[in-house]
Amino acid sequence: PSIFAAVEMAPRDPILGLNEAFNADTRTDKVNLGVGVYYDDNGKIPLLAAVKAAEKARLEAMPPRGYQPIEGAPSYNNAVQNLLFGKDSALIANGQVVTIQALGGTGALKVGGDYLKRLNPAATVYISDPSWENHRAIFESAGFAVDTYPYYDPATRGVNFAGMKAKLGELAAGSVVVLHACCHNPTGADLTEAQWGEVVEACRARGLVPFLDMAYQGFADGIEPDAVAVRLFSASGLQFFVSSSFSKSFSLYGERVGALSIVTADKDEAARVLSQVKRVIRTNYSNPPTHGGAVVAAVLNAPELRQMWEDELAGMRDRIRAMRVGLVESLKAAGVAQDFSFVIEQRGMFSYTALSAAQVEQLKSEFGIYAVSTGRICLAALNSRNIGYVAKAIASVAK
Ligand code: PLP
Repeated sequence: PSIFAAVEMAPRDPILGLNEAFNADTRTDKVNLGVGVYYDDNGKIPLLAAVKAAEKARLEAMPPRGYQPIEGAPSYNNAVQNLLFGKDSALIANGQVVTIQALGGTGALKVGGDYLKRLNPAATVYISDPSWENHRAIFESAGFAVDTYPYYDPATRGVNFAGMKAKLGELAAGSVVVLHACCHNPTGADLTEAQWGEVVEACRARGLVPFLDMAYQGFADGIEPDAVAVRLFSASGLQFFVSSSFSKSFSLYGERVGALSIVTADKDEAARVLSQVKRVIRTNYSNPPTHGGAVVAAVLNAPELRQMWEDELAGMRDRIRAMRVGLVESLKAAGVAQDFSFVIEQRGMFSYTALSAAQVEQLKSEFGIYAVSTGRICLAALNSRNIGYVAKAIASVAK
């Protein structure tokens, strides 16, 4: 018999499965609110003008395609550090930060997870309840036991901060705590700056290992304000991890551009940690691909292109916010009694709408509107043409 004869079918990825169903749907007014991708008002994934300009220059230069360093290009890694930690960061000046180019935010989490497993194999990893579904899978595949800390409070549609803090206060030293730095996926509920300060102190008090996941820098309030959690941890003197991604902020999903940064105690420690992280990379994929990182570095390091990108990012942020406001207004206009104003307060691409699994199913079967069964919708998939249709459909199922 075949060596694969006994292999079972793995469960479908819930979100990618949704895409397949959406693609197979023949209704012309169908809307996919399931995916975590930014679409412009024409329903297209944008290719940013700053990216186009950098790609054009790169095409003209026709650079050779040698191997990159294991950790990626210094021009890219330095640009990432400036975005995350601020260009005047003392940590950067001191050489305390290790940054490697990773295959998207996912790759950064995996390299970080694999390295942590070598550093502290007995640790438990704690993720928010709920969290991006891949968090659990990534850390479990790195060999960790994964548990949760309370996060979302359905009653307030905000963060159950008392519950979160109480849980952090009882974790064993060395536990890894994965924190969404901004634009929490899936709930859209973020911590306030004061609450971040308390999380920093809880991590210090219990000797926890913070792992900040920053996949949406620039999608809430702006590049600098969205880095507040990273900045507070930076000022704390603690060691911590940051995974970051340009998938959304540069609209470069398929190029797989992200980074893992690790804040160490000093320059000597940073060199030793980098040497170990490089071993993890070397045995996984050897070194990162060239193109996406080169494009991002070219944009971030040239003042005009950088300004262009910041303006385009602000455009995406503003459009999502307009869709939040527009949806709430359209729901009201469609006669929905329920107060949906919380959608305006939530941040980033997503909203936990509080629609039930049955209502989500009804949206799909009756209207061709696809959402995650938890009620998560992606606001960035709404546009001026489909928002009225979506609001009417939600009004119909929410009655
Ligand atoms: N972390 C969170 C919270 C995310 O929502 C995502 C993407 O959806 C990622 C990480 C991964 O991003 P990337 O596509 O760059 O791997």
